[in-house]
Parts: sequence; structure tokens; C-alpha cells
Amino acid sequence: MFCFLAAPAVVLCGCDQSDHGGGSIDRSARVVHPALPAATVRVSLFIGDCVSVGCEGGGVGFWNRRGSVCYLALDAGESCVVRLRDDCWQIESPDGHLWGEVPLGESAALDVRSSDGGYVCVGESEQQRYRGQLRLLADESGDAIRVVNILDLESYLQGVVGAEAYASWHMAALRAQSVASRSYALWRINRRGGAGEWDLGSNQASQMYRGVAGETVRVTTAVQDTRGVVLTYGGSGSDAVLPGYFSSTCGGHTADAQGAFGGIEESQVPLRGGVCDYCRRAAPEGLMNWGTVEIGKAELSEALLRRYDDLAYLERIVDVAVTRQSDCGRVEELGLLGSTGARTRICAERFRLGVTSTERPLRSSWYRLEDGGDVWRFADGRGYGHGVGMCQWGCQAMAVLGYDCVAILRYYYPGANLERAY
Ligand SMILES: [Zn+2]
Repeated sequence: MFCFLAAPAVVLCGCDQSDHGGGSIDRSARVVHPALPAATVRVSLFIGDCVSVGCEGGGVGFWNRRGSVCYLALDAGESCVVRLRDDCWQIESPDGHLWGEVPLGESAALDVRSSDGGYVCVGESEQQRYRGQLRLLADESGDAIRVVNILDLESYLQGVVGAEAYASWHMAALRAQSVASRSYALWRINRRGGAGEWDLGSNQASQMYRGVAGETVRVTTAVQDTRGVVLTYGGSGSDAVLPGYFSSTCGGHTADAQGAFGGIEESQVPLRGGVCDYCRRAAPEGLMNWGTVEIGKAELSEALLRRYDDLAYLERIVDVAVTRQSDCGRVEELGLLGSTGARTRICAERFRLGVTSTERPLRSSWYRLEDGGDVWRFADGRGYGHGVGMCQWGCQAMAVLGYDCVAILRYYYPGANLERAY
């Protein structure tokens, strides 16, 4: 059931209206308030020993967290290098002259704020441009710097959608991606509730974010067309925001979130998975069907134990078996036998991420596991990514066929509503 009211049509269906149209979004529907005012998002960009900071289109200032003291200002086009040494922030010129020093005890974070609306630029070696402000934090190790980009959610999405989808994709696909990405981000923000220092990472473990480098006119338009619109299901207020999971190519059937991730909060009806008829029309063959991958038994054991400290008691993994799979054949859980005789079970997605460091990583958890003597054989592999929620190549194929953003989202998140978060 959907809760679209007969309000005037909005931009979401404006350009894609066709026989396949899925309805419109009522922009006067109830507003699901985000946990943070104005939906600010904090994105962890990277951790570096030494961070190059600059600015473009305006100057920047280095402030304490409360914004009461400015330690240093840079004019547009100027750069500096920041490092942590002897429990102090040290700000140096690009050629190594010390410009300023701030004890960590005085300010545990350095905020880099644009003074006149320009971009802040940061990188370990090559700088990238970002909207909003930066927060530099001492990492847990005390020597390295964690760089966090703090900005409004809509600006953030411009840097996400261009990184997660091809800018040349159909506008309906880019709009659907915008709503899915906004829902996922807002769900993460709400779940954090302002705790910790960041809400999301900037890679596939959260969703890809490239800052201004990810922006194009078409992507910005798609984000603006869907401004504030999120997927919701059940609950009330911010609890209703659905984690808008998506992945590259489902391979013909999307995955059940609970089966893939094992989390209780992901068990909502719209994320239980279903047949996808569309990615086969658009996805590159190597993503739809990736054939057979063989990983040496010793290599697989080393990779998993290197990645997961909590498996160390197995000492060496001597046997692997599928212990649970979905009706369509996607592996959900594997059993591991250690050389010590100890056994454990591992979620298939965790297993897959654990072996990404091997020579031929697994593209999905949809395969048939075979014992090949010295190797583990992952045969008849299908799809790319975790498979939960929207299938991105399927989304593009639907858009090309004339389905609008609402119809696409309705197909991949059955039972979900589309509502405004702000
Ligand atoms: Zn698909």
C-alpha cells in the first residue's frame, strides 16, 4: 500500500511521466523530522599522518571546536600542511616552515571553515574540493589525523550520486539513486543520534562520496528534484526512515537484508528481496555473471584471519561449508572449521569482505561453493555487491524503459512510502 495523496504533481515525475509512471510524491505529506537540525551530515573522509589543506574561491580559517578562537587564516589559493607532533597540532607552510602550533589539550579538534563561501580542499597528497567545513581530529592512535567533512545533507548527496551512479544515466535513475542515498544517509544519521564524531564513511562500506569531484549538472538536478524526499516504512518520526540499501547488480533476485547482514533492524518488509527482471538488460556481463573464482585454501584462511581478529582462535581454517542460503541460492552464512577443531559460523557478506584482499575477490555472495583440492571454488557467481534493496543497473534499465523514479523505488522497496524528511 502506498500513501500518495492526490496533490499536485511534483518534479519527481515531471520529466519521466509515461505509461509506466508510478505516481507522484505528495510534498505536503507529513514531515519526518531528522535527528539533527537541517540534516547535517558528518562524513569521515580518510585518516592520514599529514594532511594538506587549502581553499578555492575564498579563504579559510583554522578554528577551535567552539568557533571562539581562530588560529590561522589562509587566503584563497593558499595551502598548508597539518600534522600531529608531541601532542600538538602543527601547521606548516607547504615548504615546511612552522606557521602555528596548538596543543591538543587546548583544542582536540581543528575546524577548517570557509570565510566567504568557497570550497575547502584537503588530501593526503593531492587535494580534493569539498563543500561545508572540515574537522580534523586526532585518531585513536594519537599520531594520525582523521579528516571529517561536515555539510548539509543535500550538498553531500551531490557528491554521492555522482560517485555511485554514472552521470550519463537516465534522469529517472539518478533521481531514484538520490532518494535511496538520502534515505540511507538519514537512517545512519538518525541511528547515530549525534553520537561519535562522524555518521558515515566515504567508501562502499557506507556509500561512495567524492565531494565536488562527484558533482555534475545532471546529478545536481536529480538531487534538487527530489530534495528532502526519503523512503519510509512503519514507525513514526525519524524511526520511519528506511535504510535505502542499494548495490550494483543483484543478478536477477535482490537479497533479504536480514539474511545478508543478520541485523534485526534491517528486517523490514521492503528489504526482504524479490525477483529483479531488469539488470540482465543493462548490466555488463561480468557483473551479471562472474563465472567461477578459485581461491587457494591457505590464501583464504590467511585473508580471513588477517582481517578478523575475532577468528584468531581458529588458528587456520581447514574447512568451509555453506550453512544457510536463500531460496534463490544466494549464500547467507558459512561454517568454518579451524585447525584447533573449533567451529564457528560467519555471515556470507562478512566472509566476502574478508576475502577481498585475495587475488580474485568475490563479487557477490551468490555462488556454489565447491571443494577443489587445494582451492575453494566459487562457481556460477552472479551479481555484484550485497544485493539488498535497489539494484542500480536494474534501476537504470527500468528508467530507459520509461519507468519514473517513483515506479523504480516502488519496485525495489515494495511496501515503502515516499515522504519528505524536511
Ligand atoms: Zn537486478
